[in-house]
Amino acid sequence: MKIMKQNLSSDFQERANKNNGVGEKQQISMPYNIELLSILKDAVIITDENFKISYWNPAAEEIYGWKSSEVLGKTAKTVLRTKFIGNEQPNTSKMLSEKGSYENEFLQFTKKNFPLYISSKIVTITDGNGVVNGHISINRDMTATKNTEKKLKRSYNILNSIVENTNDAIYLKNLSGNYIMVNTATSEIMGKPISEIIGKNDWDLYHGEDAEVITTEDKEIIENIETLTYEESLYSEREGEIRDYITTKGPYMGFDDSILGIFGIGRDITHLKGVEERIVKSEQKYRRLFETMIQGVVYQDSSGKITSMNPAAEKILGYSLAEIQGQKPQDIVQESVHEDGSEFLAEEFPSYLALNTGKEIEDVIMGLKIPSGYRWLSVHAVPLIGDDDKPFQVYTTFNDVTDKIVAQNELKKSEKRYRSLFNKMTEGFALHEIVCDSNGEPVDYIFLDINPAFEELTGLKREDIIGRRESEVIPEDTVNWVKIYGEVALEDVSIHFNEYSSALNRHYDVLAFSPGKNQFAVIFNDISQRVRIENELKETLRQLKLTNSELKQFAYIASHDLKEPLRVITSFLQLLQRRYKDQLDEDADEFINFAVDGAIHLHELIDDLLEYSKINTRSDEFTCVDFEDVLKIVETNLDILIKENNVFITSGKLPKIRADKTQMIQLFQNLINNSIKYRSVKSPEIHISATNNGDKWIFSVEDNGIGIPSKYSKQIFKIFKRLHDSYEYNGTGIGLAISKRIVEKHGGTIWVDTERINGTKFNFTIRSG
Ligand code: ADP
Repeated sequence: MKIMKQNLSSDFQERANKNNGVGEKQQISMPYNIELLSILKDAVIITDENFKISYWNPAAEEIYGWKSSEVLGKTAKTVLRTKFIGNEQPNTSKMLSEKGSYENEFLQFTKKNFPLYISSKIVTITDGNGVVNGHISINRDMTATKNTEKKLKRSYNILNSIVENTNDAIYLKNLSGNYIMVNTATSEIMGKPISEIIGKNDWDLYHGEDAEVITTEDKEIIENIETLTYEESLYSEREGEIRDYITTKGPYMGFDDSILGIFGIGRDITHLKGVEERIVKSEQKYRRLFETMIQGVVYQDSSGKITSMNPAAEKILGYSLAEIQGQKPQDIVQESVHEDGSEFLAEEFPSYLALNTGKEIEDVIMGLKIPSGYRWLSVHAVPLIGDDDKPFQVYTTFNDVTDKIVAQNELKKSEKRYRSLFNKMTEGFALHEIVCDSNGEPVDYIFLDINPAFEELTGLKREDIIGRRESEVIPEDTVNWVKIYGEVALEDVSIHFNEYSSALNRHYDVLAFSPGKNQFAVIFNDISQRVRIENELKETLRQLKLTNSELKQFAYIASHDLKEPLRVITSFLQLLQRRYKDQLDEDADEFINFAVDGAIHLHELIDDLLEYSKINTRSDEFTCVDFEDVLKIVETNLDILIKENNVFITSGKLPKIRADKTQMIQLFQNLINNSIKYRSVKSPEIHISATNNGDKWIFSVEDNGIGIPSKYSKQIFKIFKRLHDSYEYNGTGIGLAISKRIVEKHGGTIWVDTERINGTKFNFTIRSG
């Protein structure tokens, strides 16, 4: 086979020439130029008239991966597996036979099936007679070039879509300040179509002052060749107002590093400015709050050191920020205690806990000894958590609750005091809540609290009644307690009463009052014993009255029924005495005399006894008694006796007192009579006096008689008690007993002065009221 001069296309020929250093006219013939084909970078494939490969150059081996030996004799179609791009399906054979050459770009595959983008030129080889001998293909691998183009296009598309879709204005200006590129956002911000912006400068598009600002910035960029960011306030035609922008501008450089103009990226930040202002205002507002709030606020960093605090905190703690900044709270308090008085450990401080746990620590009560004194604070610590989920700061808010805690403690103490009183008091105590029906009428009550005395006095146990209703606890009581207590609880009245509980079989003295709305409390005593004694006393009194009336009866009998037969006995004895005196023997006369004396004495005894019994039963009205008068009457009554005995009576000034006059006469008469009766050999001298001693008068009757041995000073007041027999001194032994009764009836006492050596001195008191 011989290769004749070919109709190679001009660029192919050019490339061949370049590679081979041969002239345009040089004839290519096989095999002489085989050396030339072997050094070409393009694949050169020669096929025979049946497209079977007869030559496969090294470049073809390189590009397709098939060795020459592997492909020789095979059809080109089998080896190269050409695939046309798109829908193109050209008839290569036809074109070659008609034109003698064919040029195209298509995909072919390497030995390892990797697709290659091939630019190919095929020419037909003919002999001198125009008979086709074969074909020669020169294939160039364009894969790399095509890929770069693709990438470039993709990058452009991405960039373009960013530029067109962003809300930021992006533009290019040349060195004269004319816009050479603007994106849609620029057009929108400027309120003009892109076509009206391109080619114009800022003087054409903005107000003079704004254009001045913009061009000054641009000048700075061009002079310094650097990228800078500006905040601009420009009048917007579209919005009809001044808008704020943040614009980054920089130099736009050519390939040769010369400046071609400037680029700009601008963003409308008007709304952000508003937000910024609001943030500043809000910050100011919170700062003012921080500074004026009553609550103390202390900020600490993550290591617990104090960084700032508000004036309230300074006031409460008694430290200025400057004094404690950088210190930890536990270092600045001298003492810190819990409410129960136990010490607060450093790791128990709320801020410490908040920093360590990352959790809010709420409502901790701390007692602190600080420069402002002992203070109680209610503390709340809040950690501020950073992006790494760790607290980077903690702030603690606190109130001074000293007054409250002190009051609470006082209350607790007082509660304790009252609780102990409550538990120890002997009176029963119970607190209840009244239960009403739908009409507000009390129907029951519930036991809320009782004291131990309650249990003792009622026999009811705490665990059986607390929280339970009266209707369950004492269901069958005859007393309508609900009615009584309903009024106390609902109308806030206090009542005091005695009542008998049939259910408990006890008498109670009850004080009920209302300590709060719908509540009532009772304080009570079991008076069952007192009631029993009272009842017994009543019974005794009743019997006493009965006895008294029997006694009156007896007095009547004694005065009438006894005295009458005694009078008959005495009369007949005296008759016997008169008639038979000296007619009987001497003994008989003597016996009759004894009998007469005995009968007379018995008569006196009965009289005195009657007198004695009458003192309490007879009830003369108390009147104002003049004791001078009393003394005169007594002297008159005893006139004969006084004269017979040469009695000398003297007296001090005697008072006027309310008393039973008859009994007073009887009293004085008894005492003066005794002073005369128990006279000594000397003429009787009697002195009567009275001294006032507050609410009573002390009277004295003293004589110069035989006196009374002090050992008998008590006995003489007993009834029938005498120190002498009737032969010595006539008497019944009732006089002083009667005197004692009279004095006692007048609220006084009577006694004999035992100090006295000569004579006798009786003292007695009479109430002056
Ligand atoms: P009576 O005089 O009838 O014996 P009283 O009751 O009057 O009974 O007195 C009791 C006793 O007290 C008398 O028996 C007498 O011993 C003694 N007595 C009373 N008054 C005097 C007096 N003034 N001086 C001495 N003894 C007196």
